[in-house]
Amino acid sequence: MTEITRDVVIIGAGAAGLTAANELKKAGLSVAVVEARDRVGGRLWTDTIDGAMLEIGGQWISPDQHALIETVDELGLDTFSRYREGDSVYVGPDGVAHRFTGEMFPVAPETEAAIAEITERLDAMVAEIDPDEPWAHPQAAEWDRISWEAWLRTQTDDDEAVRNLAFATGSAMLTKPIHTFSLLQSLLMAASAGSYSNLVDADFILDKRVVGGLQQVPLLLAERLGEDVFLSQAARTVEWSDAGVTVTTTPTTGVTGTTVPGAATGGLTVRARQVVLALAPILYDRISFVPALPRRQHQLHQHLSMGFVIKVHAVYDRPFWREQGLSGTAFSPYELSHEAYDNSNHGDERGTLVGFVSDQNADDLFTLSADERRERILESLSHYYGPEAKNPVVYFESDWGSEEWTRGAYAASFDMGGLHRYGADLRSAVGPIRFACSDMAGAGYQHVDGAIRMGRLVAGKIRETLQHADVDAATHEGVSA
Ligand code: FAD
Repeated sequence: MTEITRDVVIIGAGAAGLTAANELKKAGLSVAVVEARDRVGGRLWTDTIDGAMLEIGGQWISPDQHALIETVDELGLDTFSRYREGDSVYVGPDGVAHRFTGEMFPVAPETEAAIAEITERLDAMVAEIDPDEPWAHPQAAEWDRISWEAWLRTQTDDDEAVRNLAFATGSAMLTKPIHTFSLLQSLLMAASAGSYSNLVDADFILDKRVVGGLQQVPLLLAERLGEDVFLSQAARTVEWSDAGVTVTTTPTTGVTGTTVPGAATGGLTVRARQVVLALAPILYDRISFVPALPRRQHQLHQHLSMGFVIKVHAVYDRPFWREQGLSGTAFSPYELSHEAYDNSNHGDERGTLVGFVSDQNADDLFTLSADERRERILESLSHYYGPEAKNPVVYFESDWGSEEWTRGAYAASFDMGGLHRYGADLRSAVGPIRFACSDMAGAGYQHVDGAIRMGRLVAGKIRETLQHADVDAATHEGVSA
């Protein structure tokens, strides 16, 4: 067992933890980052599968994500735009692929009118929500008590309109069935992206990617920390008091992935003044806290759960859909893969499609064999792009539900009523224990941008706390002298 002492120990080398560690180090504080996996990045993971570079986790950047954009720029990374020339495809209840351009799906005029009207209403509601404190809205309790689906059904009888409005925050973002989360949770999701309209605008929300992959962000942040990052070390115990913390880890076998220097072989004991839990909140209960966390945290963490989506990668010898004048952008609330995009890599002559299978559909698919799953998913993609979609040269499913140190995708959200009841305490420090991850962000909630914002925020709070403690100690010494 190696014993080290630092000002701050950070548990989790995702975007949030590595941002916090870099900010603290810049402020002259010493840090140690302990990471359960044998790679950094957490839900950011760029890997080569059967010769194709794939973004297994997060990848897109939208123009409002200033914290991520600043970080990408500061790290000297280049970005490129998602391919979007040509027609998009929508498959309606008739099962037919309809081409369209612009943001509105090619639906009947009355359905279009219902979607437009409710979108306007949602934008007005979202404009009143502060993503950092959605529970503070005067109607928060009311909006947290009705499910997203039930509320939409009070707005219109048009089922196709409901399905299309629902999926922006449902299948596409929170990745849970729409009866399982509240209207308030849905409004927070939209507010975190600036508006409901932003969220449904693929050209906005899925704007840019990083050349070479988004995992370079955590890889480069970790490089700056060098030997202060300890890989394959799962935090098992956090002993805490007002005087500080002791974090004990045990080595893990981890998963194969990109590594950086700093991997330790035995367990670690890190003594520090403060600890940052930079992991998804659904994983906190894997750690023993001594003494136990307070009642409020015990309760509130039980009301958060991960969504679940399968990200499907299909690589072809060429982007054949472009030859048909298709952009690759495709949607259907009636399809197994409810959305799909051209995800070809920068400078790569091959074409990559990425599709998503969410919540209940994802559960159902995992009852099938791998071959059946692949067949069903490619069949769904062929409804958008034609039969050629059934024959990729590389096929891969990102299954974050099986990842021990994540347990779902994309992120965690509250169950019905939980956001209003517990949201305000999610980020509250407990003695020297701080919490930071994308799952508790306001702007950039569930996104890398939110993770970076939370990393910055927690680093600022720690700096303040430790400076005050140092000033108090110096004053006390002065008085004693
Ligand atoms: P994480 O990345 O989860 O980092 C937490 C770290 O803690 C992990 O490395 C984990 O291994 C570690 N850990 C857990 N428990 C312990 C322990 N006990 N001891 C030590 N270490 C521990 N976001 C976007 O902005 N754009 C996208 O296009 C996008 N697409 C996505 C697609 C997928 C398939 C997924 C899964 C996510 C996507 N996201 C996207 C979301 C984004 O990737 C995450 O919100 C963000 O990366 C989370 O960062 P984090 O640091 O908060 O948490």
